[in-house]
Amino acid sequence: MPTAFIKPGRSKSLERRHPWVFSGAVARIEGAPAPGDTVKILSEQGKFLAQGAFSPSSQILLRVWTFDEGEEIDAAFFRRRLEEAFSLRRQLFPEKSEKSALRLVNAEADGLPGVVIDRYGEILVCQFSSAGGERWRGEIVRQLRELTGAPTVYERSDLEVRSKEGLPQRCGLLWGAEPPDLVEISEYGCRFLVDIRRGHKTGFYLDQRENRRLAGEFAVAAQVLNCFSYSGGFAVPALKGGAENVVNIDASADALELARRNILRNDLDDQRVTHLCGDVFALLRRFRDERRCFDLIILDPPKFAESRHQLPGACRGYKDINLLAFKLLKPEGTLFTFSCSGMLEPDLFQKIVADAALDAGRRALVIKHLRQDADHPAALNFPEGAYLKGLICRVR
Ligand code: SAH
Repeated sequence: MPTAFIKPGRSKSLERRHPWVFSGAVARIEGAPAPGDTVKILSEQGKFLAQGAFSPSSQILLRVWTFDEGEEIDAAFFRRRLEEAFSLRRQLFPEKSEKSALRLVNAEADGLPGVVIDRYGEILVCQFSSAGGERWRGEIVRQLRELTGAPTVYERSDLEVRSKEGLPQRCGLLWGAEPPDLVEISEYGCRFLVDIRRGHKTGFYLDQRENRRLAGEFAVAAQVLNCFSYSGGFAVPALKGGAENVVNIDASADALELARRNILRNDLDDQRVTHLCGDVFALLRRFRDERRCFDLIILDPPKFAESRHQLPGACRGYKDINLLAFKLLKPEGTLFTFSCSGMLEPDLFQKIVADAALDAGRRALVIKHLRQDADHPAALNFPEGAYLKGLICRVR
């Protein structure tokens, strides 16, 4: 097996079981591994550290499959990892119905860096984002068919990060029957149509499941402003929870059209909903100038920081929308505010929100800290995996 030697003083993170090895930490590689091949990772003195997949064109040169020297990376390895991941979900969501949607495999957290598998009803959707995931793609699909009997396995590897791995974007059927244009899923009694082929991520933001449910509880008789609404993930539970009305804002007309269909699908009164296609930053300013106000505001923006050098700009973006939201909230109003930028640490996010409240002249309390739902776990020694953070703030 090809072998990578880690530079002296650079093996600490591997010893602490962090699964990434950056190219700068590698002294040399013996053998000639192809992209995705398994490489033995040793300290300079030759002590075994891990086995990982080789990504020659990425800054993350090696992604660890196992810290066990005796474990072979083969079909049986992937079967064990998949079974472990499925067993966790069975325990977490024992009542899962035929129509529910779940993340079955969450990459590093489930010991499978570069591999994400989501289930929408019976249909499985995979994303392979690294050379290692790509290398084992066929085997993983074979195991998925055997373990789940899914009638459709679809691929959504249309990810920007794949270019860093030297991989092309790719979407399409991996196995079985073509999926329908829209798949219906159910989440805490809310029905959603999901576009597996063209929707964001693998079709739906599954990580917000529990937070959407909570928003429903805060929506009783509320006038709701749902910013970055996508297909109405927060709008449907808010209306079901008794919201008086909801304003959905999104830059995508397709997303808003799906939101409209989702609202009707739940037999909710679409007269209570306004859909605004446009830029949240601009529309929040317009609402401020018009002195509009709301009882409940949801800010669920896309990832503002994709890399470390984008962090300062991202922080300004978060500050801006949170400041405007605080200005638009009625006394005793509630803000659900999120960041899914993994680079932004939770403490810094909270500081930004605190500064926004201060500048808006509002007193605010944190009622609850939020995170991604439990089917998106994060390994304790991989804090980057805890990317989604949110706060429920009550203003005075
Ligand atoms: N809350 C949603 C997920 C939001 S994803 C749910 O629970 O399903 C982020 C959304 O923001 C995307 O739909 C994207 O189209 C939209 N978006 C991105 N930038 C935007 C902007 N500047 N103004 C308005 N919408 C934007």
